[in-house]
Amino acid sequence: MLSLEHTIFSAREAGFDLCGAAPCHPQEQARRRFEEWLREGCDADLQYLRRNIDKRFDPALLVEEARSVIVCAVNYKNDTSLGYPAGCSAPRIASYARTADYHRSIREMLRDLFALLEKRCPGLRGRAFVDSAPLAEKCWAREAGLGWQGRNSLLVTPQFGSFVLLGELVVNAPFDRYSEPCAEQGCGSCRACLRACPKGAIGERRTIDARRCISCLTVEAGDGPRETCGWLFGCDLCQSVCPYNRAAPLHTNPRFDPLFDPRELSDEWWNALSEEEFDRRFADTPMARGGLPRLRRNLGSGR
Ligand code: SF4
Ligand code: SF4
Repeated sequence: MLSLEHTIFSAREAGFDLCGAAPCHPQEQARRRFEEWLREGCDADLQYLRRNIDKRFDPALLVEEARSVIVCAVNYKNDTSLGYPAGCSAPRIASYARTADYHRSIREMLRDLFALLEKRCPGLRGRAFVDSAPLAEKCWAREAGLGWQGRNSLLVTPQFGSFVLLGELVVNAPFDRYSEPCAEQGCGSCRACLRACPKGAIGERRTIDARRCISCLTVEAGDGPRETCGWLFGCDLCQSVCPYNRAAPLHTNPRFDPLFDPRELSDEWWNALSEEEFDRRFADTPMARGGLPRLRRNLGSGR
């Protein structure tokens, strides 16, 4: 059996800012909402979202004898998360993309956490998830008490806002007690993110229409021009206006220190960039996945 207190303590030791745990069960309500979103075509034909729907909403289908979901979050807010200085015309890059690729960082942190838990719970088995395998992570984050789903569909935590990255461990052990699910709907009457979105991509039911969202359009593959409103990769607009993010502290985990400053990199600089230089400067960042051709596509799109 795992101890909630020890798990939270160990998660901090592994570099996470928040941690909670929830008992495994199928997420039926979330599944219905997701299927409705797919029926409306809001996934922009991203085929990977249509695969493994059963698994996405039932962790028991992902991990044999799954008993608990441990959800961890780490703050990555940095000095461009709230926006660029007035007059700065450099192509904008989402603040998470300035750091080492979080898939790798968080996987390593989850591996460290698992090792710490295993010492206290021999026979512990489990699987780590970082955005790359199907798991309804925002539902689990709410159930594990980390926060609520904001109007922009992102998880909002009271302490760190939505500039957090999530990772999960689905394990075969129960807990001595589970976290209190977050009942709070902290958005209240705020609608700042809806007003800030230049593409009208935020729906009334806490959903995003991926066909319009700049973040999806610039990060995902696909040919043809797209209106990016000055963003080269990702988009932070609906987060930068969020009052919880404005009040949140900057990150403290050095894994999430920025590796470059996009405010110094002009259109001309990006246009002149060679493949070799791109690899040298950005190989560790999330931008490496799509490579320079995807950035050139975004740069050549409507601004
Ligand atoms: S990421 Fe940008 S485009 Fe997408 S919903 Fe938020 S503000 Fe709108
Ligand atoms: S900007 Fe306002 S409505 Fe949007 S997620 Fe933040 S608190 Fe909620």
